[in-house]
Amino acid sequence: DLLVVGSANADLVTAVTRRPGAGETVLGSDLAVHPGGKGANQAVAAARLGARTALLARVGDDAYGRLLLDAQESAGVDTAGVLVGGAPTGVALITVDPSGDNSIVVAPGANARLTPADVRAARGLFEAARVVSLQLEIPLETVAEAAGALAPGARLVLNPSPPAPLPPEVLEACDPLIVNEHEARVVLEGAGARVPDAPEEWARGLLALGPRSVVVTLGAEGALVATAEGGERVPSVKVDAVDTTGAGDAFTAALAWRLGVGDDLVTAARYAVRVGALAVTRAGAQASYPTGAEVAGLGGE
Ligand code: ADP
Repeated sequence: DLLVVGSANADLVTAVTRRPGAGETVLGSDLAVHPGGKGANQAVAAARLGARTALLARVGDDAYGRLLLDAQESAGVDTAGVLVGGAPTGVALITVDPSGDNSIVVAPGANARLTPADVRAARGLFEAARVVSLQLEIPLETVAEAAGALAPGARLVLNPSPPAPLPPEVLEACDPLIVNEHEARVVLEGAGARVPDAPEEWARGLLALGPRSVVVTLGAEGALVATAEGGERVPSVKVDAVDTTGAGDAFTAALAWRLGVGDDLVTAARYAVRVGALAVTRAGAQASYPTGAEVAGLGGE
């Protein structure tokens, strides 16, 4: 089983002709409310592919919390580990201008109240998990507790997003650490390492920090998979990209699930780039995630 430990946010989106500057008010389109947050996105992505998936997260006792729980349950995620209350549900306030550039304010709310004690209280979920997937939209001490709570033989997948320097014991537990270019740079800088220019060199630099394996996602180029034995490029599938929101979360969830069912890292990455490619062909994050049948229909395996 896959256990995702992470954030759940309501994404409140409005389209504007121009994003507001200091002291300015602009009018936007009708508000759209979407379930989001990297943890919630990953859990939905994995479950839609057919993975047995559980989510450990915290939402508020409010309408957005119920929206997020509904989205998880419709996708088939086990939500027994979703804690309710303590603060309002996390919210992302998103304005998008006609060029597609956005400005985002996140009010973490309940996500900031997911504690190491919550992780310790969820021992049953960790015992059932072959793979645990983490991101950084919850407190770093909670991430560190979860990284240390894996069952024997279980595997940790971490996408350090939003990027922050990572403690050595978390880096060493990753198999793989999954980063895009920006995340690679922040993690390398945070460890006091040199920041080279090419993805192959980021991967080598990151491996030197302790993870058993590293995956660098490269957008339309696909991904690079690297272990101590060497690296391999996994090209993307060619698609017409409509909206890349949440593509990284879909990629990570797919990879984590495939590792849990026994794929090696390159095989899992070949599957994950197809999931990522399908996710960018449709608008939204969770709404864009494909089923296992759609991935099989894309061909190219
Ligand atoms: P992030 O969203 O975290 O920055 P990427 O942009 O690298 O991550 O996207 C994650 C994955 O989604 C990529 O590795 C790739 O498989 C897929 N993907 C993203 N953009 C495209 C695209 N334009 N065409 C095809 N696949 C894409």
